Amino acid sequence: MDFRDLPSVEVLVSRAPLRMPRPRLVVLAREVLAAARTRIREGLAPGDLDEALADRVRSAGTPSLREVINATGVILHTNLGRAPLPCFQALHGYSNLEFDLETGGRGKRDSHFRPLLEELLGHPAIAVNNNAAATYLALHELAAGGEVIVSRGELVEIGDGFRIPEIMERSGAILREVGATNKTRIQDYAQAINEQTRLILRVHPSNFRMVGFTGKPEVSELAALARERRIPLYEDIGSGCLIDLKGLGIEEPVVQESLAAGADLVTFSVDKLMGGPQAGILAGRADLVERLRRNPMYRAFRLDKLQVQALETVVRLLVNQDLDAIPAIRMILTPAEEIRRRAEGLDLRGWTMEPGESVIGGGSTPGESLPTWVLKRPGGADALAKLRAQDPPVIARIADEHVLIDLRTVLPGQEADLAAALRTL
Ligand SMILES: *Cc1c(COP(=O)(O)O)cnc(C)c1O
Repeated sequence: MDFRDLPSVEVLVSRAPLRMPRPRLVVLAREVLAAARTRIREGLAPGDLDEALADRVRSAGTPSLREVINATGVILHTNLGRAPLPCFQALHGYSNLEFDLETGGRGKRDSHFRPLLEELLGHPAIAVNNNAAATYLALHELAAGGEVIVSRGELVEIGDGFRIPEIMERSGAILREVGATNKTRIQDYAQAINEQTRLILRVHPSNFRMVGFTGKPEVSELAALARERRIPLYEDIGSGCLIDLKGLGIEEPVVQESLAAGADLVTFSVDKLMGGPQAGILAGRADLVERLRRNPMYRAFRLDKLQVQALETVVRLLVNQDLDAIPAIRMILTPAEEIRRRAEGLDLRGWTMEPGESVIGGGSTPGESLPTWVLKRPGGADALAKLRAQDPPVIARIADEHVLIDLRTVLPGQEADLAAALRTL
């Protein structure tokens, strides 16, 4: 078959059942023809074009963004939307977003979560669109035109273009590097302070670990220096761990501990270990938080109403200590034995079970893992593709030519669909 044998867009459209406006039909017909040309180029038959167009017409109203089953065991999977959200009924219509129901006057959108957040952290706090925005806002408001001292070991890239030196440059602050990659001492910070210094910045190296001959001051040591020299200490904590996970062998800085150790300002993500929607929190000294709140860029980075609703939900659950209702946290805390029982409950033939490892992911806790049980059977890329083609799609992992299924990240309501998908292999 040759390109010349393909019908024109006109002809294809004229033969289609007219269930949508012509211009949209033309777009879909072009997509069908482009796909057919690709198939011909690959030496394949183009298939039934009328049928292909009818298919596209049928699925034209189906959203591209949809539910998937995460069977990878990576809890904060960057490609799968980071933290799965706690349940809440999304408000589609009007709400009291910026309306005070008591007085009938104007309200503030952050009133829905701010008091709870402050109860949780013990400090004033505001929220913006993500932690990248929070970092930018903090540097822009507190240090533009002046110097920010950072250890050479903390000039990190978080992923997809977020690099501390670049954000710093855009914020208008001047980077003052101190120490060496592997070691920075408190004296290095002390010696770098001058009249231009506006901030001491500490960055959590979220997605990598340094081992061997390394060292850096404790937050409390930096805080003592900062207080003595009257310069604010700002820590970009990254992952926003609000509950101590050291009992599980997870070494992540805890937000409240950093504030208690004397950081004047901290920022962190809401959709990492906090288990909420995409957002970033800035918390700390009341005067600093108030300045950040008044910066014009705060408005540019503000949360939309769905984020406000999801953030209120997760903060309320955290304050009420209802950790089981926050899926990401529940997944982290689930014992391996329970995952084994759930996997057995699927009652699958042809799969074996063995101990494995889940990871928290999302640019946190590198090199650390949680013990789990995985379902396993021989298979490769073909098997993964077949699982992705199910409804809902199942995302799995491959190791040593075996498909691995980790129930840790499968939500309770998804087990029947998962079992049906796995039986197709
Ligand atoms: C993840 C992370 C960021 C970026 O946070 P987003 O919420 O993804 O914008 C910034 N700094 C650190 C240290 C991080 O770990």
